Amino acid sequence: MYVRRLTLSLLLAPALVTASFPQSSHVNPWAPTELNNLPPAASLTDGTWLKGDLHVHSSHSKESSNNSVAKIISYSESVGMGYACITDHDNHVLGDVAHNTWTDPDFKSEKLILLYCAEWTTTRGHGNTISAVPYDHQRFYDVRDQRDVVVGAVKKELGIHLSANHPSGKDHFGYSYDMVDSIEVWNSSIWPKNANAIMIWDDMLSSGRKLTGRGGSDAHHGAAPTPEQATKNTPQAAWNYIGTPTTWIFVKDKTPQGVIDALNSGRVSVSANPYAPRVEFYADTDGNGQPDMMMGDNVKAAGKTVKFNVRLTGNTAPDGVYTVHVIKNGNKYKDIQITGKSATAGFEDAPPAIERTYYRVEVEGPSTPYPQVPKSTEGSGSMVGLTNPLYFNFNPNF
Ligand SMILES: [Zn+2]
Ligand SMILES: [Zn+2]
Repeated sequence: MYVRRLTLSLLLAPALVTASFPQSSHVNPWAPTELNNLPPAASLTDGTWLKGDLHVHSSHSKESSNNSVAKIISYSESVGMGYACITDHDNHVLGDVAHNTWTDPDFKSEKLILLYCAEWTTTRGHGNTISAVPYDHQRFYDVRDQRDVVVGAVKKELGIHLSANHPSGKDHFGYSYDMVDSIEVWNSSIWPKNANAIMIWDDMLSSGRKLTGRGGSDAHHGAAPTPEQATKNTPQAAWNYIGTPTTWIFVKDKTPQGVIDALNSGRVSVSANPYAPRVEFYADTDGNGQPDMMMGDNVKAAGKTVKFNVRLTGNTAPDGVYTVHVIKNGNKYKDIQITGKSATAGFEDAPPAIERTYYRVEVEGPSTPYPQVPKSTEGSGSMVGLTNPLYFNFNPNF
């Protein structure tokens, strides 16, 4: 009986396998397909580059020192910033940033575009919320320990931009990246500590997520006005302060919403400090000799040769040698050496049709002095700046 049963099961087994798992009918619904509905890139000239710092703490964050809202705003104005985003810890005021930072009588400026920001400070990590208008931050604070599906729904309802802060290391962002709009790829003047953040960014980009990379000093401490007011953290002000690094945003409308729209679009570049050169990245996809897309833009690739162009704008050291590192799909692709005099580099490649491809750039070279934060250049070293990617065939409905 036992033998008969075994024989029967052996005879039946292959037939059952074939019947249950028909290989020929499997279709991967997520396989890349031709995207025919990508809108053309927006104008490359109709806009203004505005600089600022997207992560700064005022005295409404309890562990900060000598850094009032008035001081942050007047300092930002003095170094030519175009926008400000004060990100105080919400847990210090039990979620009520609206009645602290935003109603501070000094939260006003004639020169800067002021964004309504906070650092969502939770057990699972930190993220910056950024908004053009005041919103009910208390509601976002209330859901901090809920599952991501709840957090994501409230975030959407509030209409805020959410950005993952210092994504690796202490207080790393422990939520899904599917609900964030940007990621802090450069935190503080100490550039080398961002290697893991860059790795996470490249993983998210490589998996099809079009996610803006941005900077943030995370400065908490200002210089002491008198020796008596100095704290044990005051020396930090010489190493890391507003603008280390500086995030440049190509803004079409010089309004709070215009800054956020541009941040979402990825027309964003990060520089070591407010005086360091800005790195710009363009491409000519139709071969007419003129660029037709810039960093952050996503266009359809047809497998044809594309001419890429990297430019350093602003204070380059004329005889300084800069190395342009090109990263393609998360891997080192090409290094190009240029001088500060020419300040431009070109290369060609043919991103394939249908498949996703992205290129981004990091530039190393002589550091630019930042006299107000003199030691910051020791932290940033040879790092000059980085760009957001040029995207090809990224699905906008991802
Ligand atoms: Zn933080
Ligand atoms: Zn912070």
